[in-house]
Amino acid sequence: MSDRDFVYTSVSQRIRFGTHSVGTLKAEIEHMGCRRALVLCTPEQRPLAQELSKPLEGAAAGIFDQARMHVPVETAHAAQQLARQLGADCAVAVGGGSTIGLGKAIALDSGLPILAVPTTYAGSEMTPIFGVTEGGVKRTGRDARVLPRTVIYDPLLTLTLPLPMSVTSALNAVAHAAEGLYAADGNPVMSLMAEEGIRCMARAIPGLCAHAQDLRAREDALQGAWLCGTVLGNVGMALHHKLCHTLGGSFDLPHASVHTVVLPHALAYNSAAVPGAMHRIARALGVDESEAAAQPLAAARAVFDLAQRHGAPTALKDIGMREEDLLRARELAMQSQYPNPRPLEGEALDQLLRNAFDGIRP
Ligand code: NAD
Repeated sequence: MSDRDFVYTSVSQRIRFGTHSVGTLKAEIEHMGCRRALVLCTPEQRPLAQELSKPLEGAAAGIFDQARMHVPVETAHAAQQLARQLGADCAVAVGGGSTIGLGKAIALDSGLPILAVPTTYAGSEMTPIFGVTEGGVKRTGRDARVLPRTVIYDPLLTLTLPLPMSVTSALNAVAHAAEGLYAADGNPVMSLMAEEGIRCMARAIPGLCAHAQDLRAREDALQGAWLCGTVLGNVGMALHHKLCHTLGGSFDLPHASVHTVVLPHALAYNSAAVPGAMHRIARALGVDESEAAAQPLAAARAVFDLAQRHGAPTALKDIGMREEDLLRARELAMQSQYPNPRPLEGEALDQLLRNAFDGIRP
């Protein structure tokens, strides 16, 4: 078998991208064959949900505004009950990964189709991956039923995303694409999307930092979110995502910030094992072609520098991690096996976590 062989089953979704595209929400609900939508959001995004519901008139069954991180099963049940009471035949998830995650939890149980209107760059709208937390344990999995049927990307809705969250969320997306470039089940189409997704984010982050209301930069970032999210939905992730899942879930650290801090170190860990992927990541981040090709650490350093230059966190100790939890983090990361270009080695993982804790440039 050649390392160029692959199997790729494409998924089917309808994507509408553009400034003011959220104005088509009612038409898109109808296009899905639905008539009454339950609109999901976080408590903070209720005003936006109300604004989007108004022109829906009879097509809006109601609003459920209790979406929160990690999708507690009780929240999912409450939303599902409301959907039943109101006779909703679809869910419109307006928000980031937490709100879209709630929609997925409802879809998993009830089969209710989801229309996603993402307002961060996390990419959940493009994946069949779900997560539900019950009794403090987050169960995750893949199921085609939870993949949003339609996605409306409107850059105007991201103008309110605070700048620090915009930068970390964009780097969260870069992480999907970077790991997609060395995925065990990768394929040429996903690699093209990954490289272009990273390129969009490398353009967007400085643009947003220069002017957070810059609509061109917001368009770049949202297009990057679509590309990187598609990669996440189509190929398997490795050490970086495993570490972030463990750190975020077990030590209650903020999702996008953990991705931002860990990515340079996960890339450095894998750099010698997949030089071709590192070359592509570095090139997409704007590293000079000859350096990108010759220096396997160029990708890891470029991610670190991009974060640092734009005020994003670079150390776990600065985002709430406690030093005494490092050992436990390593144990958790070593517990289950999963594909990674370089095998998991205890001592090297200790070093990775230590460097990420202290924020040392790779
Ligand atoms: P989030 O959805 O938790 O949102 C963070 C905060 O930002 C919330 O308070 C929200 O109300 C607010 N917010 C969102 N968009 C805003 C906007 N435009 N303006 C102002 N405020 C806004 O954050 P996230 O990083 O998008 O999602 C993180 C969660 O998503 C994690 O639980 C993660 O596991 C999950 N996730 C899942 C997948 C998947 O494929 N299943 C992919 C990525 C992330």
